[in-house]
Amino acid sequence: MDAWIGRKIGLRAGIGLTRPALEAYQLEMLRRTIAMAKERSGFYAERLSGIDVDRDLRSLGDMARIPFSREDDLRERGPRMACVPQSEVSRIVTLETSGSTGRPKRVFFTEADQELTIDFFHHGMKNLVDGSDTLLILLPCARPGSVGDLLRQGLERGGTAVLPYGQLPRDDGSEDGRVLALIRERRVTSLVGGPVEIARIARKCPEAGESVRTALLSTEYVSEENISAIEGNWGCRVFEHYGTTESGLGGAVSCHVREGCHIREADLLFEIIEPDSGEPLPDGEWGEIVFTTLTRAAMPFIRYRIGDIGRFMPDPCACGSVLKRLDRVRDRAAGKGGGRR
Ligand SMILES: [Zn+2]
Repeated sequence: MDAWIGRKIGLRAGIGLTRPALEAYQLEMLRRTIAMAKERSGFYAERLSGIDVDRDLRSLGDMARIPFSREDDLRERGPRMACVPQSEVSRIVTLETSGSTGRPKRVFFTEADQELTIDFFHHGMKNLVDGSDTLLILLPCARPGSVGDLLRQGLERGGTAVLPYGQLPRDDGSEDGRVLALIRERRVTSLVGGPVEIARIARKCPEAGESVRTALLSTEYVSEENISAIEGNWGCRVFEHYGTTESGLGGAVSCHVREGCHIREADLLFEIIEPDSGEPLPDGEWGEIVFTTLTRAAMPFIRYRIGDIGRFMPDPCACGSVLKRLDRVRDRAAGKGGGRR
């Protein structure tokens, strides 16, 4: 992904991506995002009223001065977070809360916002598939702009044949037979879906995995047990993805080394904080994941606390990428579901 991100941040062809170049770009985009949000959104005008971009944001270390935002802000005051008129919103993702009382979260996207995700899927999936693959999508894909639909668009740009199926029921295997038949008939070589569902069909039918080379697990926590079930039964390589609706569906993905997920850092600035004090934590320490969107127009998220517990992996990845890696997410601090897609 480094070459792709290098191009996105304006490096000339042949110039390798470096941390200083990336962080200079992130600071500039952060400043622009804060200025835009203060100007266009009633919510951020209020929340960020004490922040003066020129005075307060001279380095990424100054991030800590910026107030957090939370899921409750999105639930209670979501429409006021928007930075474009409704006529420019091309897609609204509504997330029902798993709790009994909360209002749904509604996240707005412009067409350009969705293009950022499609482009990420196109480049981020190159470790898993190429033009010779047939990939089965077991994520919601019926609606235009759904995660599966954006994934399909990104993959088709790379020439991958895509079979959009939709999400399998998590707790009942009534559709498993149909999916297994599809894998065999179409000689599926790669799957994207939830770890529980893919592990279940891999256990049911090891023979169906004969053609399967790779699987990408998304949408929820991934257990070692499910990874072993898939790799053991099917003899394929498992990759992981971390993303939430608020992060633009796509967030970070495994490279071929498959230790942690590289963040798409041209679009997202991640931090790990100590949950109680809110203080930033150094690489390697576990804490709460906070992210800021750097390129989103309809509804930017600024120091948004999604409630997941994670950490940056402290050492450079063996793949040679300079992009930060998120370790496997542990648990949700707030215990509220619904944001993951
Ligand atoms: Zn890597």
